[in-house]
Amino acid sequence: MQSIKYDIAIVGGGIVGMSTAYKIQKKYPKLNLIILEKEKELAFHQTGRNSGVIHSGLYYTPGSYRAKNCVDGRVQLVEFAKKYDIKHDVCGKIVLAVNQKESKQLITLKQKGEKNGLTNLEIIDMKKVKEIEPYAEGVSALFVPQSGIIDYKGVTNKLAELIKEINSESRIETNCEVLNIGNEKLFSTKGTINASHSIFCGGLFSDRLAIKDNLELKMQIIGFRGDYYELEDTSKYKVKNLIYPVPNPEFPFLGIHFTRMTDGSIECGPNAVFTFKREGYKKTDFNLKDSWDALTFSGTWKLFINHWKFGLNEYRRAFSKRLFLKELKKMVPSLTMEEIKIGRSGVRAMALGNDGKVIEDFMIVKNDKNIHILNAPSPAATACLAIGDEIVEHATKSFDLNNK
Ligand SMILES: Cc1cc2nc3c(=O)[nH]c(=O)nc-3n(C[C@H](O)[C@H](O)[C@H](O)COP(=O)(O)OP(=O)(O)OC[C@H]3O[C@@H](n4cnc5c(N)ncnc54)[C@H](O)[C@@H]3O)c2cc1C
Repeated sequence: MQSIKYDIAIVGGGIVGMSTAYKIQKKYPKLNLIILEKEKELAFHQTGRNSGVIHSGLYYTPGSYRAKNCVDGRVQLVEFAKKYDIKHDVCGKIVLAVNQKESKQLITLKQKGEKNGLTNLEIIDMKKVKEIEPYAEGVSALFVPQSGIIDYKGVTNKLAELIKEINSESRIETNCEVLNIGNEKLFSTKGTINASHSIFCGGLFSDRLAIKDNLELKMQIIGFRGDYYELEDTSKYKVKNLIYPVPNPEFPFLGIHFTRMTDGSIECGPNAVFTFKREGYKKTDFNLKDSWDALTFSGTWKLFINHWKFGLNEYRRAFSKRLFLKELKKMVPSLTMEEIKIGRSGVRAMALGNDGKVIEDFMIVKNDKNIHILNAPSPAATACLAIGDEIVEHATKSFDLNNK
C-alpha cells in the first residue's frame, strides 16, 4: 500500500463513512479513495445493529442539522432503496399515548414534526389505532406516515459496490485498523497508507481518532448499550409495523419500541444502559481503557448524578426480563413472558460534553488536512446520504477539490 498516494482516505466503514465516500466519488469520479475498516465486514457496529427504522424527522429541534439532515436524508434514502432494490417499506408508525398526559404531549410532538416539514401527521383515536395496530392499547396516537423500515447493512454494501463501479481504482480495505495518524499518512494494521487528506467516521471511536490527530476536545464518546427482545414467531401477529412510546423530552433516547424488521421479525427495544466496553454487546463485557476513560471523565459523573433514577431503572431492566416486559405491556398489554425471547444488542456512541450534557446535534471538527465526524447519533442512518452531501461540501472547501 505504501507506493500509492490516495487523494482521500475515509476511516470507518459504517453507513456514514460509506455514504461520505460514495458522495465524494459521485461528485469527483477521478479521485482515488481508500476506505479503511477495522472489522472483517462493513456495517459491523452501530449501522448493522440498529433498529432498522427510517426516521421521519419528528423529534428533532427545528433548524438543527439533525432535523434538516433527517428530512432530506430520508427522501434520498427511500429513492436510493427503490432504485437499487434494497429491502424497505414506508409503512408509517404510531406514537402511542398511554395516558392523558402523554396524549397532550402528542400535540406538541405533531407541531414539532410540522415545523420540520412533515405533512399529513394525524392524531388518531383508539378506534383508528386499532385499525393500524389491533393489539395496542392506550388513549390516542400520532400517526406518522413518513416512517418506515429498511435494511441498513444492504444500503452500506450497495454504497460500497457503487464506489467501485464509479472508480475501479478506489479501494475498500477491511481488517485494517488505523492505529495512528501522521502528516498525510495513516499507520494501520496493514501498513502505512499515504493520503493527501483523511475523513474520519469512526463512530464509537471518533473521539480517540480526533485526539490521535492532535485535536483538543471538550467531549467524550460514552457507549450506551441497547438490548432487544424479539417476539416469538407465534406472537408476531400482535405487532403489524412500528409502535413507539411518547418520548420523555428529558432523555436523549426514544424509549423501548416495537419494530417490524425487513426480515419479518418483530423486535422490542432497545433500552439504554451505560456500557463498560464501547463495542461490548454482552451485558458483562468489560474493557479497562474504555471504563477508565468513561469513569474518569467529569461529564459522565454529571450525567449519572442528573439522571441517576433513569439510569438505575434501565440497569434493573437490563437484567430482568419481567421488568422489560412490564415496559412493553404499557403499549401491548396482552404480551406474556413466553411470547418474548432475548434478541441482539447494539451500542450507541453518545457524545457527552464536559458539562455532562448530551451533544444532540451532528458534529464535525477539522484541522488543516483532515475532517473528523465526531458525532453522528440517531437518525444518522436515515440521514446518511444528506450527511454525505454535507461532508462533501466541507471537503470541497477544506481540501480545495473544485479543480479535481
Ligand atoms: C441500538 C441502536 C439503534 C439505532 N436505531 C436507529 C434507527 O432505527 N434509525 C436510524 O436512522 N439510526 C439508528 N441508530 C443510529 C445509527 O445506527 C448510527 O447513527 C449510525 O449507524 C452511525 O454510523 P457510523 O458510520 O457513524 O458508525 P458505525 O456504524 O459505528 O461505523 C463506524 C465504523 O468505524 C470503524 N472504526 C472505528 N475505529 C476505527 C479505526 N481506528 N480504524 C478503522 N476503522 C475504525 C468501526 O469498526 C465501524 O465499522 C441506532 C443506533 C443504535 C446503536
